[in-house]
Amino acid sequence: MFGAMAESAARVRVFSDDGRCVSDAVLMRRALEYVKAFGGVIAQHAQEPRLTEGAQMNEGAASGRLGLAGWPAVAEEAIIARDCLLAAHVGSALHICHVSTAGSVEIIRWAKSKGWRVTAEVTPHHLLLTDDLVASYDPVYKVNPPLRTAADVAALREGLADGTIDCVATDHAPHPVEDKETEWAVAAFGMTGLETALRVVQQAMVDTGLLGWAQIADRMSARPAAIGRLPGQGQPLAPGSPANLVLYDPAASSAVDPATHASRSRNSPFAGLTLPGQVVATFLRGRATVLDGKPA
Ligand SMILES: [Zn+2]
Repeated sequence: MFGAMAESAARVRVFSDDGRCVSDAVLMRRALEYVKAFGGVIAQHAQEPRLTEGAQMNEGAASGRLGLAGWPAVAEEAIIARDCLLAAHVGSALHICHVSTAGSVEIIRWAKSKGWRVTAEVTPHHLLLTDDLVASYDPVYKVNPPLRTAADVAALREGLADGTIDCVATDHAPHPVEDKETEWAVAAFGMTGLETALRVVQQAMVDTGLLGWAQIADRMSARPAAIGRLPGQGQPLAPGSPANLVLYDPAASSAVDPATHASRSRNSPFAGLTLPGQVVATFLRGRATVLDGKPA
């Protein structure tokens, strides 16, 4: 089936069960073997299911204080370590979704130093927010993988800066109000993040001096396009080719108001937060999709 999808009009290159972890090692090995034939990539949602049964937030000092079931870093790191080893054994390509712990960054750094075909991404929210926010019991901060500690945030920023983490991906997860404005234990996991992504990355990476704008274009455009092998994306502007671009004003600054977002969902963890920057315009295949900061 992977082969048929790869040869279809969609030319699928990256395959994932995201939302769920491929926890079975044999199934993961087979998947890596199948996609190797056509240069595909298996993307993993790294969450050991038994270690995270009933888990509600990052396992640590904050979960102890709040009395919420903990989601240990090792549940993510154990799967990443196993899958890096499997990818090396098979000689295939692995992509790790939404890396969230310092230990995960270390493992990926080690796998890359071996020359293994491993790539990874981090979300904007994991670059900025920590598990202390859960003290409000506001389910807007309930997300999978969970918000981690300040030490994890620092390691993720460092990993994105030195290229251990290849790119930023939003893991944008819109939810209806009734699924988020409820008590913590029953609320859905997930946050919106698409419309704030560049602004959050500016705050976390550019305004801190960790990355320049050319590198931001690499981490948020060129690298993702290269991993997914998307034609016409992530390239320098060229006369005669359709414009796929973002026009951005880094000097702007404003409070995030989800009511102004094009998304119908309002579950933004950045609501009310003042962030730098503004997306002025976006173009997709030569057509304006945002103009003057508003959907075109
Ligand atoms: Zn996921």
